[in-house]
Amino acid sequence: MSFRVEGMAEPVDLPSRLGILPFRNKVLLPGAIIRIRCTSPSSVMLVEQELWQKEEKGLIGVLPVRDTETAAVGSMLSPGVGNDSGERRLKGPADVLDSQKQDGKNPQELIHWHNRGVAARALHLSRGVEKPSGRVTYIVVLEGLCRFNVQELSARGTYYTARVSRLDMTKAELEQAERDPDLILLSRQFKATAMELISVLEQKQKTVGRTKVLLETVPVHRLADIFVASFEISFEEQLSMLDSVDLKVRLSKATELVDRHLQSIRVAEKITQKVEGQLSKSQKEFLLRQQMRAIKEELGDNDDDDDDMAALERKMQSAGMPPNIWKHAQRELRRLRKMQPQQPGYSSSRVYLELLANLPWQKGSEEHELDLRTAKERLDCDHYGLVKVKQRIIEYLAVRKLKPDARGPVLCFVGPPGVGKTSLASSIATALNRKFVRISLGGVKDEADIRGHRRTYVGSMPGRLIDGLKRVAVNNPVMLLDEIDKTGSDVRGDPASALLEVLDPEQNKTFNDHYLNVPFDLSKVIFVATANRVQPIPPALLDRMEVIELPGYTPEEKLKIAIKHLIPRVLDQHGLSSEFLQIPEAIVKIIIQRYTREAGVRNLERKLAALARAAAVKVAEQDCTVQLSKDVHQVTSSLLDARLAGGAEVEMEVIPMAVNGQEISDAFSSASVLVVDEAMLEKVLGPPRFDDREAAERVATPGISVGLVWTSFGGEVQFVEATAMVGKGDLHLTGQLGDVIKESAQIALTWVRARAADLKLSAAGEISLLENRDIHIHFPAGAVPKDGPSAGVTLVTSLVSLFSQRKVRADTAMTGEMTLRGLVLPVGGIKDKVLAAHRYGIKRVILPERNLKDLAEVPSAILAGMEILLVKRIEDVLEQAFEGGCPWRQHSKL
Ligand code: ADP
Repeated sequence: MSFRVEGMAEPVDLPSRLGILPFRNKVLLPGAIIRIRCTSPSSVMLVEQELWQKEEKGLIGVLPVRDTETAAVGSMLSPGVGNDSGERRLKGPADVLDSQKQDGKNPQELIHWHNRGVAARALHLSRGVEKPSGRVTYIVVLEGLCRFNVQELSARGTYYTARVSRLDMTKAELEQAERDPDLILLSRQFKATAMELISVLEQKQKTVGRTKVLLETVPVHRLADIFVASFEISFEEQLSMLDSVDLKVRLSKATELVDRHLQSIRVAEKITQKVEGQLSKSQKEFLLRQQMRAIKEELGDNDDDDDDMAALERKMQSAGMPPNIWKHAQRELRRLRKMQPQQPGYSSSRVYLELLANLPWQKGSEEHELDLRTAKERLDCDHYGLVKVKQRIIEYLAVRKLKPDARGPVLCFVGPPGVGKTSLASSIATALNRKFVRISLGGVKDEADIRGHRRTYVGSMPGRLIDGLKRVAVNNPVMLLDEIDKTGSDVRGDPASALLEVLDPEQNKTFNDHYLNVPFDLSKVIFVATANRVQPIPPALLDRMEVIELPGYTPEEKLKIAIKHLIPRVLDQHGLSSEFLQIPEAIVKIIIQRYTREAGVRNLERKLAALARAAAVKVAEQDCTVQLSKDVHQVTSSLLDARLAGGAEVEMEVIPMAVNGQEISDAFSSASVLVVDEAMLEKVLGPPRFDDREAAERVATPGISVGLVWTSFGGEVQFVEATAMVGKGDLHLTGQLGDVIKESAQIALTWVRARAADLKLSAAGEISLLENRDIHIHFPAGAVPKDGPSAGVTLVTSLVSLFSQRKVRADTAMTGEMTLRGLVLPVGGIKDKVLAAHRYGIKRVILPERNLKDLAEVPSAILAGMEILLVKRIEDVLEQAFEGGCPWRQHSKL
């Protein structure tokens, strides 16, 4: 279906022309370019007759611009579409397919013709032949030139022609119109908007440079059409642009359309920017994740994050948390799920959840029916002696058996190091068939150590109790609070107050760890505490505990412990047995007497271990020799085999079997028994550290006395040295002394001064000893802090010795508090002190009379070899401390 238009009022100066009428939703505007595929016979005919022949017939053919599904409409502003532009690029022309389907129908019925159109000239024509039908088709590229009005439409053959009249102004008319100020204003406005559009487009694509030139060279009325034609607008808007014959109307309409297009570009740009931003972020994450996955795969650790989360959730589910805590945990898990692993707080949140999942909310060791006899056997088997202690433990267990949820007191073992406090606690756990966890409280000064840090702190973690429970993974272990006397309080809070809550059966059901932030039930835990001394334990805490004292061992006890327990254990730990190493009793005794001087057996165990190590080296070396000899055999025999296999002549080698056999048996014989003798002892442990003569050597001059003190390491022998020099009568005290011991020294000096005459100290020849003299008292070892009142009698003795210039008996040690009036008051730690004296080889011990009852604790074997002198007054002490009695008595005798 085609048209031919006849009789244009003012023919366009072109060799071949067509008139394009709007059709469906497409309009050709002047200045725009259109590409038409002519496939129908009518349009082919039109092209052939009106264009192909290139005759100037003064006619214009008319084609309706049709909409078909395949029509692609270019919306790009194309440079070079103007008349005056030298270069004609067909960028983004509108494609219109003239489909054959419609050709069979009556065009009048089908098409409602618009009465205005645009005259167009052909820029390009190409002819094609369809195979196999041989049908001829054309593709015509046309450029819109000017608007026309259809005056009359008539058919010529299969296509139409039209009589038209030109609508656009002529040049002269235009020049006239352009002087109109309104039009000038409008065109300026249009150009400004167009300029803006161009610069926006320029930012997007660098090729728009030429459009600017267009703006300056092309007349504004054409520009309006060109601009509008280059973007997608509705058919109605296109039609109204075509109908805008009036320049002012056309310009204002175009300005509006260009402006709208500009806005839409801007909005679109904003959206793409946003999308791009998001995209690039997620792309980056994606990339990193891919990399991480690759790295994990490479490391063979390709479990996914999601799998991790699922595993964590499963673990949490099986942890058996109470419902409210489970809710809390789920909330936390949801929060974690929303986080990226790189996000701050992710790992801390994760660690927290892991802790929640790992805590034994429900899980406990299975409790068997407690058999007291086996428990007793167990305790006896692990520990020698300690009869009273074991009895108390059995009582404790018996109560638990009768009433499993009994809220008995917490047992607290008090005693010097190495006496078996920890191992007793672990035996309790074994007897009860429970797990054992040790929490060391030594040096804990921060409450947060017990109760945990709040999660807001960087590097926060749960307290030691919760951590301990996590480690054992049961909620009913035996928990040893080790060295409970070593906690101290400072600005960071008081750990003892947190411990109070832990040990209180009423409160520990809902123990609140700051890190955990949810209550945990500690009521099933059996707490056992240990301490070296009772005094430093805060009274409130002590009130919750039952103190069981474990004084040090006697040398005999130590010997038994060594033989029955320590040696077998040490040998076992070193991969030896009594077949390889034997430590005779006499040697153990020497170790106890000369190499260790302690209340417990820890050092003894260490020394035995040193012997075992040395023996292990010997045995291992011999093993090596045996191995070597065997190797010799192997090499030779394989050599022989090889020769035999090779079929070569065999030359027999004589192996000196006797020598080899000798070596092997030697190695085995020496490996079988290594008996430790004194020589080996000295080689391994060095020369003896202690001997019995120490006291005698140290008390060689007047002014020195031997005291007995009680430290956290058990009983100790404490020498007191006093000396005098020229001065103003001051008292100097050294040796890291506490206030109480300093006061004891004052009391002692006052007493001696007050009794100087009675004691006839001045009569001893040194008249001015007490006048114009400074007294200096020193307690070696200078680096060990000392305190307590029990040095009173020792101080007096050393002062009297100094002033009387008489030596104190080296075989006598003493302890006792003294009043200003000279009364001797009882002191603590008698058993430890007597044992210490025994260790030093001291034969006589002066004790306050009121400590007589404490002697019952001292093993009779020790007492049998010692002289215990009970005193009431300081004069009695002096009487016993000096050879030949007290100087005062001498005087009174005189
Ligand atoms: P503490 O906790 O009192 O400092 P330990 O319990 O650690 O001391 O004991 C130190 C070592 O001495 C352990 O190997 C322990 O088995 C051993 N031991 C202590 N007393 C005895 C004893 N009466 N019988 C057997 N071994 C003991």
